[in-house]
Amino acid sequence: MIKHKLLVKGNEGEEKQLRLTIEIKVKNSFSIVPHLARSHCYHPMNVKKTTLKPEARLMEIFSAIQGEGLNVGTRQIFIRFAICDLRCHFCDSAYTWTAPSTCRIERSPGSRDFEIHSNPVPLSILIEWVQRQNLPSLHDSISLTGGEPLLHAPFLREFLPEVRALTNLPIYLETGGHRPEQLKLILPYLDSVGMDLKLPSVSGESYWLEHSQFLQLCLDANINVFIKIIVSQDTDPDELKRSASLVAELSQEIPIFLQPVTPLAENQKFSQLPVLAPLPEQVLEWQALMKQIAKQVRVIPQTHKMLNQM
Ligand code: SF4
Repeated sequence: MIKHKLLVKGNEGEEKQLRLTIEIKVKNSFSIVPHLARSHCYHPMNVKKTTLKPEARLMEIFSAIQGEGLNVGTRQIFIRFAICDLRCHFCDSAYTWTAPSTCRIERSPGSRDFEIHSNPVPLSILIEWVQRQNLPSLHDSISLTGGEPLLHAPFLREFLPEVRALTNLPIYLETGGHRPEQLKLILPYLDSVGMDLKLPSVSGESYWLEHSQFLQLCLDANINVFIKIIVSQDTDPDELKRSASLVAELSQEIPIFLQPVTPLAENQKFSQLPVLAPLPEQVLEWQALMKQIAKQVRVIPQTHKMLNQM
């Protein structure tokens, strides 16, 4: 038996709590342990089955226009998972790094009228919330984002078949691309993947081998995959050449999106390191450099921010 709290804002702003008691069937799923995720030693096999529950730690669920990469402009149901084990210098989602005690759920798609609920969230409740968003013909796909969604791979393995069957919507994964072992657990349920390729000079993270393994898994499974590379004024061109070669050696059909970094607002900054948008001439030079190696290299900034969208 799992108790799930719904927090309701009253008219005068006071919070009332309704306790819902929900009976769920516990199957072979389990939630992750945040400190294990951060310490890079998280692996599904390390989690004892006696503590397993089909529940996830969420940040939010909402309906929005995808602003990045191959799916730009499409309408998606976003499921933003909590927790990330990376610390990219340019991260605009640092609030997702640890699991909060509550998450927020949009009442109706695009309304931005959020309810607050307690974390973690049972699988059956998450299914209900996605169904609430799923108005006829509105959405093109469901986006799994974060944080790092693959830190919830055991949960996703249970959740994705159900949500696919129920909504009939394609599943799109946004990921740091550094956890191929977790990807294997959910590959059969994915339709497309947007994989970040982290440049050490820009992100402070380095995962060349894992990125290559990750891409190979997507190709072997016939998943529609594209690469996103955040570039700043500090980008090392040699890393861009290495990225283009990594992709081209696997397949010339994989599109690469260079995404000029969006400078962080004061309240988003977590490090003293300034992350500056690249100069116009830098972007032109880098695209030309990469196109000598890889066939498809496009440049797209975060369009949702230009539209003042979430
Ligand atoms: S992987 Fe994404 S959420 Fe995690 S630190 Fe990097 S930018 Fe932030």
